Amino acid sequence: MDPILSEAISAEIEQAQRVLLVTHVGPDGDAIGSLLGLGALLEAQGKEVTLACEDPVPESYRFLPGSDAVVQATGGRYDLLVSLDCSDQRRMGDVVPENLAGLPLINIDHHLTNSRFGTINWVDASAVATTQMVLALAEALGWRVTRQVAICLLNGLVTDTRSFRTSNVDLAAMRAVLRLMEAGASLPEIARQALEQRPLASVRLWADAVEDLRLEDGILWTSVTLDMRQRHGMSENDFSGLANSLSGIREASAVVVFTEREDGLVDVGMRASPGLNVAGAALRLGGGGHPQAAGCTLEGDLRQVQDRVLAEVRRSLSERVANAQ
Ligand code: 5GP
Ligand code: MN
Repeated sequence: MDPILSEAISAEIEQAQRVLLVTHVGPDGDAIGSLLGLGALLEAQGKEVTLACEDPVPESYRFLPGSDAVVQATGGRYDLLVSLDCSDQRRMGDVVPENLAGLPLINIDHHLTNSRFGTINWVDASAVATTQMVLALAEALGWRVTRQVAICLLNGLVTDTRSFRTSNVDLAAMRAVLRLMEAGASLPEIARQALEQRPLASVRLWADAVEDLRLEDGILWTSVTLDMRQRHGMSENDFSGLANSLSGIREASAVVVFTEREDGLVDVGMRASPGLNVAGAALRLGGGGHPQAAGCTLEGDLRQVQDRVLAEVRRSLSERVANAQ
């Protein structure tokens, strides 16, 4: 890690006593892992930490040590804000009170599309997970990585790489895994809890969504409607597992899964085959992400959202074809 950055971050942390850590709405394993991991590291430095996320910790990550401490609302006085795995300010949701607008904000993230909204921006798109960056920070500052911290950090690496199968996995990522396993984290146990275990209802719901799959212009897409979710009693709206499973389909260059939410918005999860890119399409639609996995959240009825998104993904794929010619 760049010593100028680690010094700047260390200086902000040293000056602060009450630290508010925030991760993104609809949290995934890297969001929760980086929140809990950095939270425990800062607590060991004698800081009073508040761990916040607008949505509750999903069932898959409740095995992580400290997950009970995550709150959905914040209040009171803070000296420092830290955002984790958030590619733009809106990803923090409404959990940050408006009167904190003048506080120093350390933005720690690995999305290429990060809008650099912090007072200190540490964005490393070569990291496979934000938790890999948290480990690098701990090592740069000489903080001890306990077993509890290692479990949380390894969870981010395991989930964001789908157990080390994504095209960005490199030696640096595997070195981080080694360090975290040396510190006592179990890779198979995390993979089982965070990636393998799921309720039967989710698979029945996937079956409905798979039934509706369409392949158009190399884009494989489907929707998870509110009606389908009610039928199967699925209240959580994270269907990245479905998008990930579909991303291996040979006939598809890109995969898009639309999920209707209770609040009327539509979540859009996108995947692209290696060499292609859906981050640009997501960014044009107000979202963000990585070249191979991106997303956005849109207003409008399902049909309209589908048309808009599919047009943008088609555009990204055809630009790529045009560039290759
Ligand atoms: P997933 O399909 O797993 O929900 O998301 C894939 C990637 O897209 C993740 O890196 C996630 O951070 C990003 N992403 C998903 N939804 C949104 C969104 O609404 N806004 C932004 N900025 N990024 C998103
Ligand atoms: Mn991440």
